[in-house]
Amino acid sequence: MDHPESGTERASATLLRQIPAVDELLNRPSLRALESRLGRRLLVDATRRVLQSLRSRIASGGLTAVSVELLEQEIQAQTEASAGFSLRAVINASGVILHTNLGRAPLAREAVEHLAEVATRYSNLEYDLERGERGKRDVHTDRLFAQLLGAERALVVNNNAAAVFLALNALAEGFEVIVSRGELIEIGGSFRIPEVCAKSGAVLREVGTTNRTRIGDYAAAVNERTRVLMRVHPSNFRIVGFTERPERAELVDLARQKGLLVLEDLGSGCLLDLAPHGIQDEPPASASLQAGVDVVTFSGDKLLGGPQAGILIGKREPLERIRKNPLFRALRVDKLTISVLEATITLYLRGQTQAIPALRMIQLRKEDLLPRAERLAAAIAACPGFSARVQDGESVVGGGSTPGQALPTALVAVTHSRHSATTLEGRLRCNSTPIIARVERDTLLLDLRTVFEDQDDEIVQAFRQIVNGEL
Ligand SMILES: *Cc1c(COP(=O)(O)O)cnc(C)c1O
Repeated sequence: MDHPESGTERASATLLRQIPAVDELLNRPSLRALESRLGRRLLVDATRRVLQSLRSRIASGGLTAVSVELLEQEIQAQTEASAGFSLRAVINASGVILHTNLGRAPLAREAVEHLAEVATRYSNLEYDLERGERGKRDVHTDRLFAQLLGAERALVVNNNAAAVFLALNALAEGFEVIVSRGELIEIGGSFRIPEVCAKSGAVLREVGTTNRTRIGDYAAAVNERTRVLMRVHPSNFRIVGFTERPERAELVDLARQKGLLVLEDLGSGCLLDLAPHGIQDEPPASASLQAGVDVVTFSGDKLLGGPQAGILIGKREPLERIRKNPLFRALRVDKLTISVLEATITLYLRGQTQAIPALRMIQLRKEDLLPRAERLAAAIAACPGFSARVQDGESVVGGGSTPGQALPTALVAVTHSRHSATTLEGRLRCNSTPIIARVERDTLLLDLRTVFEDQDDEIVQAFRQIVNGEL
């Protein structure tokens, strides 16, 4: 009698012989059609991968027959997947407006149109059209921040972390920068003021306490090695109660007396007064300039609602010094960012901030969202197995700004007779345009504040697909 193992081995050997050759597969009409659409390279890679995985399944005894049709389908699916994009649009139904994991600020259509025009052609990025000679890319953004905020000079780098790092390096390398202990913050993982300071070569001098720091604390710490008084907006947390920090004007006065500079990291870069829309505690950049702060830094993709960027604005002299620093060249942005930023700031200048999605979303009231939420809830409730109703809830600005401040919203709360909320959340993420929802107390929550109106139907469609077993 045969040893049982050798029977399995013989079966495997038979199956292995049935595996078609790569060329034979590639010659099948469906795969030839695929090749003419997506090219040979991805197709051959996918074919090899599929055959390799088939061989290991046969070797482990997990297969009883080889189907060429199934192989073809698998090769097609894998080729399509590798020919597609990894970075894709998603539907943000989380209600977090500046969701760092979902790309922060969605861009205004006007901004992307300008980008497409500038980026697909040549441009005057560094060309002075009047003189017909080399120019500077800075002119494009200088003009805008001068008009919008009265800044003497503006520089744009890759993000606000880079802006702070660059400013500290250019203005205080080898010297001291004074920061209040209440402002030694961490923003999302790796951006920590003490560490950025250390990397920049500036020596951090902490003053005051976590909750109270007075102007006298700064004054007492000034010595011949001091160059900068730094103020940091505590973006993502609040210290409430027995607190004190000097006014900007007091820091500016002290700096003038001692021949120092004031640097302020604003974080969000709020260019509008959002207090009427329920956003307190986000100081507008204009207030910093008016108080006489020398260099103000903020992000482009937080409350400003534009591209990822770090913006430095303020007085000419310190900004020229920052511009001459060799790190500027390493951290500067390209024409893509400049064009999007230019078009976004132009919307502010024209008073068309409603065209900036993040600002429009912040300004939506619960009453604006209610009719859409009712419609969506009704459409979902019409899907067999689903229950849906509208309930009060809260959206947040996100992006490390305005902690503890929520915007009242109308949520669509969804449950299913068999599936858990977590299962539903996972299915929605598999939608052809993935839908990102929240789960709370085994209820799926959809917040339409962050959903573009033309995406409502796609959400309904996804629920219908769940019913049909297609999702
Ligand atoms: C968000 C933030 C940063 C980092 O800005 P990025 O543009 O994300 O690099 C730095 N400082 C403060 C206070 C912030 O809020």
